[in-house]
Amino acid sequence: MADYRTVKADSLTSVVRSIVKAGGSSDREADLVATNLVEANLKGHDSHGVGMVPRYIDAMKEGGLKINQHVGVVMDGGAMLTLDGNVGYGQVMGFEAMELGAERAKRNGVCVVGLSNSHHIGRIGHWAEQCIGHGLVSIHFVNVLARPIVAPFGGRDARHGTNPFCVGIPRPGKDPIVLDFATSKIAQGKTRVAYNKGEQLAPSTIIDDHGNPSTDPRFTVIEPSGAILPFGEHKGSGLALICELLGGALSGGKTLSGKPDAGRKVINSMFSILIDPAKMGTGENLAREMESFVAWHIASPPAEGVDRVKIAGEPEREWKKQRLAAGIPVDPTTWQEIVAAGAKVGLDNAAIEKLAS
Ligand code: NAD
Repeated sequence: MADYRTVKADSLTSVVRSIVKAGGSSDREADLVATNLVEANLKGHDSHGVGMVPRYIDAMKEGGLKINQHVGVVMDGGAMLTLDGNVGYGQVMGFEAMELGAERAKRNGVCVVGLSNSHHIGRIGHWAEQCIGHGLVSIHFVNVLARPIVAPFGGRDARHGTNPFCVGIPRPGKDPIVLDFATSKIAQGKTRVAYNKGEQLAPSTIIDDHGNPSTDPRFTVIEPSGAILPFGEHKGSGLALICELLGGALSGGKTLSGKPDAGRKVINSMFSILIDPAKMGTGENLAREMESFVAWHIASPPAEGVDRVKIAGEPEREWKKQRLAAGIPVDPTTWQEIVAAGAKVGLDNAAIEKLAS
């Protein structure tokens, strides 16, 4: 990693906070965006980390991302909440939506939250973790309005986004379960990371602009564009469809039918179900059965080349421990793009270097 620079989480947070603030955001907004993106890097998901800043700044300059917005309440039925994200920073919209939903789930036992029309909400596990902080189980279906990038099972071109799905389950006194993934074979941002690093992708991950197999990440980063394949063949493709319909339509948002407006913005809509196991009367049963099943599950003898069986959420915790201690590696292309984004909002290189060091 010769040309990589390693930046401590706190310093990287200061860099992002300053750029977002220089773009006109309030202190709170800049803080929510910076901590969310750096947390994604800490958790090992560089695709949803600080590398998104250049895109956010471009989207803001183009008018596709509006600063200093709050969720608008379209309908509040207590156990059902329909919210408009007003194309504001997704880090603010996701946070406000989950706080409102959690308060109602604690009161009613459940809250179904539709959040439409938000700018990019980043790592969906972040929102499950916020719910876990309130003692809630949560399920999230998300769609993505941007250039289509994922082919349906059996198709030759891209028809939808990487439509993530996520479930979070609190474990009293233990680390939670957070299952959080894109329904594409890999997240689109990971193809960008590979492209920036000059690496090839694993076979059977993407197709080129003619629908033929390729390992060159250029086909999902620059034109002419190919597509990422769905994970799990027809099953993953079906889950992506459900994310589009629940995340993009039942939430009150839009689906990706036809090509959306050109531009750098990424619009997410999310359909979430927040459940209080204690209110359901099954909290103790859940805790007991979960511990018994997790113990049984991870006791499976590891396959060749595998260290041990893990549960969802564990790899992210391991990354975080390691990166909090050693710092976050940022590839040179991503760093240059962050510096260029700073320049676009009037923050010079010297100021960024000072914050980063
Ligand atoms: P991934 O393929 O790395 O899978 C991550 C999930 O698998 C996590 O729950 C992780 O704990 C679990 N996992 C990984 N290795 C494991 C192991 N060995 N044993 C048990 N569990 C394991 O994730 P991805 O598909 O690349 O998605 C990355 C991120 O991108 C996610 O946080 C997702 O929310 C985000 N995303 C966001 C958008 C958006 O538009 N906002 C779109 C797509 C993806």
